[in-house]
Amino acid sequence: MSMLSSDRNAGIAYDYAGAIHIHSTLSDGSGTVPQIVEHAQEAGLDFLILTDHEHLQARELGFEGWHDELLLLVGEEVTPRFHNHYLAFDIERPVRGRGNWNRPQQLIDAVAEQGGLGFIAHPIGEGYPTRAMACPWLDWTVSGFTGIEIWSYMHDWARNLRWSNVAAALARPDSIVRGPHREALRRWDAIGKCRRVVGLGTLDIHAKRIPGLVYPTVLPYRFAFGTVRTHILLESPLSRSDWQRAARQVYDALRNGRCFFAHDGFGDSTGFHFVAQRQNAVVGWMGEELPFSPDLTLIASAPESAHLCLLRDGVVVAEGDGKRLRFRVDRPGVYRVEVRKKFRPWIFSNPIYIRDGEAEALSA
Ligand SMILES: [Zn+2]
Ligand SMILES: [Zn+2]
Repeated sequence: MSMLSSDRNAGIAYDYAGAIHIHSTLSDGSGTVPQIVEHAQEAGLDFLILTDHEHLQARELGFEGWHDELLLLVGEEVTPRFHNHYLAFDIERPVRGRGNWNRPQQLIDAVAEQGGLGFIAHPIGEGYPTRAMACPWLDWTVSGFTGIEIWSYMHDWARNLRWSNVAAALARPDSIVRGPHREALRRWDAIGKCRRVVGLGTLDIHAKRIPGLVYPTVLPYRFAFGTVRTHILLESPLSRSDWQRAARQVYDALRNGRCFFAHDGFGDSTGFHFVAQRQNAVVGWMGEELPFSPDLTLIASAPESAHLCLLRDGVVVAEGDGKRLRFRVDRPGVYRVEVRKKFRPWIFSNPIYIRDGEAEALSA
């Protein structure tokens, strides 16, 4: 956790970094929940959302809650065979995906009916060495999902794996990752024109062991926990006395898109922010919708010098090197920020949605 003192005028002062979409031995991961907790603590994570396939057993076993400085939450990866995988958080009962591969809207609705949050997992299935690794989302006519996994570390890595680079890929996984799939970004920008849709950075880590290799574990937990993280921004610290209240704080931030994601192995992204200002006062944060007015300015700020790009509806409208980027809003659109560091993908904001129309019409 880190307190961002410069942002207190906006009422949001706390940044927590989490790892999302983790598999344990309770499904097809290689680590037990206590081992995963230990690796996450070593990596300095603030929270972790476990998502074993098709069940919530880790909760039933009593693992949910604080483990010293780490908040462990238990979600589910709703897992139809081959495609349409869906991450479900804050649900009471597991949602069955097996046998329901051709009814993705039902899966989304079953999560929403429980008041849960749902994210389309590893949405794009292009370029993988095997079909079993891809598991894309096939039906984009669906509605009612909270958001999309935009940058999944394992899928970025797997998509760029080739026979020619497998040794390097296992020894130095970062050497083959390239960032979110362009098609995932395109979908995100397109849906954002109609409604808020939250982007996440996730892992989908199993830490599978393959005996006989020099590096026998594929993307070990401890390593992966230092890579792609989703950072949530909060107005007050996570509750240490009441883990269920802390869980609510995490889920509210994710539901509202008050978060960004970054590869923290390329640089600690803590302190990044992206806000809308009017007359030097912050009037909007990531994830929020604002009515267009010509006196709005967008400001992105990175914790260290990098290449900042501001995009509107997927097209770069401003960019520059440094720690800060300002842009006077000249028309409505879905605005978000991408930051590159030494030509590597680093930080991705959630959007600020500047809408044509009255403020009253936008209150969600
Ligand atoms: Zn999956
Ligand atoms: Zn998974």
